[in-house]
Amino acid sequence: PGTLYIVATPIGNLSDITERAISVLNSVDLIAAEDTRHSGKLLSHFGIKTKTFALHDHNEKQKAQSLLDQINQGASIALISDAGTPLISDPGYNLVNLAREQGVQVTPIPGPSAVITALCAAGLPTDKFLFAGFLPVKQQARLSTLAEYKNADFTVVFYESPRRIIDTLEYIEESLGAEKEVVVAKELTKHFESFVKGTPAEIISWFKEDKDRQQGEMVVMLAPNKEESALSIEAEQLMKALMEELP
Ligand code: SAM
Repeated sequence: PGTLYIVATPIGNLSDITERAISVLNSVDLIAAEDTRHSGKLLSHFGIKTKTFALHDHNEKQKAQSLLDQINQGASIALISDAGTPLISDPGYNLVNLAREQGVQVTPIPGPSAVITALCAAGLPTDKFLFAGFLPVKQQARLSTLAEYKNADFTVVFYESPRRIIDTLEYIEESLGAEKEVVVAKELTKHFESFVKGTPAEIISWFKEDKDRQQGEMVVMLAPNKEESALSIEAEQLMKALMEELP
């Protein structure tokens, strides 16, 4: 049987593709792409002539088995998405899950992903973080999801659309407080790459200063809660009392 490769592609700068990604994309029998027209540009840039097949959210479940059948008959297939790492807020989960269930070999070809690219240069703690994908679209669900992170002692990272960024920053202020430290990473690896750090209100005014800033792809990061947890305050008080008792 063949192999199912999960291949990461650039999130903006085409030079971020790996040598291994190019060689796998050249050697497989078929590339399953989220949008074949979009990926066609990337493939032609690198002179890759492999046949493509459209695999998106709407047909993934239905097509997954026939792709796995082809692999069992000896074909190798690469899965790519429009940008970054497949399955990270992108299609592919059903296919990979089914492949694993059926003992099909799945090989990851790592490369860029916006979540890691944003996090590693934001200046926020990275020892522990939560990737929350896209927030729910409905207002109430969006607010309650944000409220869940109120006491988070880890960095929270999520993807956001330019259409909703101002609303989301207002919601962050409402549910997490006006002092919440936020970083928005925009247009990563591209010409207008920028990191904006501040309170929700400061970032909103940065966006409003220039309407062009409200365009492009973005990642939002919330700093961990600075307030000491009740537990550590208690521990500190205990320590103080002990110190006073000591000779
Ligand atoms: N699979 C991709 C990955 O590994 O990052 C993510 C796909 S998701 C459908 C697209 C979202 O990722 C965008 O709305 C944006 O939030 C984020 N994103 C992708 N490329 C980006 C970039 N160059 N700069 C900032 N955010 C980006």
